[in-house]
Amino acid sequence: MATPLVPHLVRGAKLDASGSTQHAISNPATGAALGNVPLDALDAAEAAVAAAAAAFPSWSETPVGERVQCLFRYKAILEARADEVARVLVAEHGKTLGEARGSVRRGIDCVEHACAAPVLMMGRTLPQIAVSSSFCRTAAEGGVGIDSCVDRLPLGVCVGITPFNFPVMVPLWMWPMAVACGNTFVLKPSEKDPLSAVLMTELAFEAGLPSGVLNLVNGGTPMVEFLLKDPRVMAVSFVGSTRVGEIVYRTASAHGKRVQAMCGAKNHSIVMPDAVREAAIDGIFGSAFGNAGQRCLAGSVVVCVGDSAGWLVPGLVARAKSLQVGPGDAAGCGMGPMQDADGLTRVHAAIEAGVRDGATLLLDGRAGALPERGCFVGPTIFDHVPPGSTLATTEIFGPVLSIMRAPDLDAAVALVNQSEYGNMAVLFTDSGHAARRFERTVQAGMLGINVGVPAPMAAFPFAGWKKSFFGDLHTNGEDGVRFFTKSRVTVRRWI
Ligand code: NAD
Repeated sequence: MATPLVPHLVRGAKLDASGSTQHAISNPATGAALGNVPLDALDAAEAAVAAAAAAFPSWSETPVGERVQCLFRYKAILEARADEVARVLVAEHGKTLGEARGSVRRGIDCVEHACAAPVLMMGRTLPQIAVSSSFCRTAAEGGVGIDSCVDRLPLGVCVGITPFNFPVMVPLWMWPMAVACGNTFVLKPSEKDPLSAVLMTELAFEAGLPSGVLNLVNGGTPMVEFLLKDPRVMAVSFVGSTRVGEIVYRTASAHGKRVQAMCGAKNHSIVMPDAVREAAIDGIFGSAFGNAGQRCLAGSVVVCVGDSAGWLVPGLVARAKSLQVGPGDAAGCGMGPMQDADGLTRVHAAIEAGVRDGATLLLDGRAGALPERGCFVGPTIFDHVPPGSTLATTEIFGPVLSIMRAPDLDAAVALVNQSEYGNMAVLFTDSGHAARRFERTVQAGMLGINVGVPAPMAAFPFAGWKKSFFGDLHTNGEDGVRFFTKSRVTVRRWI
């Protein structure tokens, strides 16, 4: 049987448009073919932007309380069908079923947050901000009062470009808040695993989102370039690598669009000798190997302060040795495969670089019990990783943990701050003094204190600093509302 073409979703319906090149996707655990993704079907992009532009006038005039009713219905549908979505994620991405369910849950949190748009996008007003004496009756009558207010208004057509690692959750950072605020949306998911995004968009149609409000187009670089340059597009929300994010930020800005680009990372966890041992081992283990390390919040470097390495390193190695690697839906599976063969090659290359650079390979994920087929690699741990080496500086995006040493907290923070990235940083300690010093000196946009993966909940903004982010307003939280609205001030005088 021929492998199916993954459809675009435009004006509330499937649109088959193939373009001239396609990308074949498969289940990374089994190799089973899942579909062909069109890469350059620009006629679909044109149709999607036209549909979103046509839907904007009426959708933006629909009262916000009515707009969010679609999101309330969407949330109810997702609650009922979360497991079905999670299983598509397992098949196309390789996550364990638990990880897939967790990421759907975090996505639903974003929908819930967007349901609060009637409150979140409210403006502010200040009556009697001044008194005008022109055209005045008498001064004794008090002049003519002037009132002022600021409103938040939708932008128009917004675009979302998303990465492969959270194909359900990351689009939900974007479009629910965008459409709740009165915008219309074109989503371009990763060409590596778009099936869950297609299902999620179909479920939004089922929830009653009117035709053209949300559209999905599949594609690669040519599709993104089309969307970044289209004059009808007002804003671009991007999540992906720093290399691509920088291109997206520059191109979209040069074409007059508002842009936020949440990008790559190299995250550090510092462990103080006084940390609660089991909590530190557990937190670092989950952060490094959860989602097989394919996470922008993966804590891929540990800096051991003082003698903490004495208990932390053996604890981590023992935990990693007991991790069961296999298909994400297999009973007892603790870690699934890399999402594709490129990911596997990238991890193998990082391990080779670590050996070459003189780091001590404590646990080699290429060895040991791995399934025969599929993009599998086991958890890998290097100790004594030299500062400045590939392992210490490059985002590997796989289950490779690098351990470094520092004599004290300030030296550890200095190591962290050398990174060109600044997505997140974590400290494990029992000392409030150390925690406060860490918070005051470390350079990263998201911090964890005794929390291995400090992913902000939807009501808080999510993004990093330095090369982990390009733009001004982060995704989610109050920033998300501001990103998807423009402010307008009115000064009123009734004479
Ligand atoms: P990627 O940059 O390769 O792809 C992201 C998106 O950009 C995809 O939709 C892809 O089709 C498109 N794209 C790829 N090359 C392009 C080009 N040359 N021009 C225009 N568009 C292009 O990222 P990925 O490999 O899918 O995802 C992994 C990366 O995403 C990691 O670096 C990870 O840290 C990052 N990420 C960051 C966050 C965050 O919040 N900071 C969250 C999740 C993932």
